[in-house]
Amino acid sequence: MLCLAADGTLPKIDYAVFADTGWEPKAVYQHLDRLEKEIAEPAGIPILRVSSGNIRNDALDPSHRFASMPLYILNRDGKHGMTRRQCTGEYKIKPIKKKIRELLGYPHPMRVPKGVFVEQWVGISVDEFHRAKDSGVQYMRNLHPLLDLGWSRSDCVRYLTRLGLADTPKSSCLGCTYHGNAQWRAIRDSSPDEWADVVAFDAAIRAGNARANATGNPLLGQAFLHRSRVPLSEAPIDHVTAAEWAALQPELDADELESGVVDGCSPWSCRGEQPEPAAVHDEFGLAA
Ligand code: SF4
Repeated sequence: MLCLAADGTLPKIDYAVFADTGWEPKAVYQHLDRLEKEIAEPAGIPILRVSSGNIRNDALDPSHRFASMPLYILNRDGKHGMTRRQCTGEYKIKPIKKKIRELLGYPHPMRVPKGVFVEQWVGISVDEFHRAKDSGVQYMRNLHPLLDLGWSRSDCVRYLTRLGLADTPKSSCLGCTYHGNAQWRAIRDSSPDEWADVVAFDAAIRAGNARANATGNPLLGQAFLHRSRVPLSEAPIDHVTAAEWAALQPELDADELESGVVDGCSPWSCRGEQPEPAAVHDEFGLAA
């Protein structure tokens, strides 16, 4: 959408906003720098980078409140569960709202008067139209220009390829549990440092987040980044056939296993349900 605004296909925008969780892959930060230099600056569109902190550091810091990532849980009785996802709201939606209020001239806790609002573009394509949602606040009105253009994901890829941006990386936290096996393999095979980073993080959250443990609210089970609920370094991310997985865990969708949770993580377009119909842990990761 930034490129479409820059080339005049869409109207000029005042700002582009990037909500930084502090733990995106290097390739995403490099791509953002490139977009800023080659597309945004020449078009006179400032890219605002906003943040609520570093999601990786916060999970491991006993003195920091942690907004839970959706981790896979293996309970002591062998049952499977998930921790509730709070991270998208905390690390993406919250800093964007804060910045928008500042831009409007009504920072929290000021009340934004009725009739004062921004139009916010959210990049939903026609093959995922079900993700299009309202902002939930009156000072932000969500628009979905790709839906208006009738563009699918393939249209977007074709357009980016024409601009020389075919290698646009997928934005998400490096250790997001929504990765499919293909994404885990890509990290392992192309970026040893980042693989070591996610393997170390996976090991570090096995007993739950640091703050929950420090405040006497330990996890009664084990937490994992990979849905197999084995340590990431040993997880079956290679050549797992649909039949093998069907035999192991009949509830899993083979496509999702390989490609990740389709809807992934995006402000204002998160899927409403958990990735698996399993128990959700309220007590874990909810340290006040
Ligand atoms: S990418 Fe994943 S871990 Fe990061 S904020 Fe989104 S859901 Fe949470």
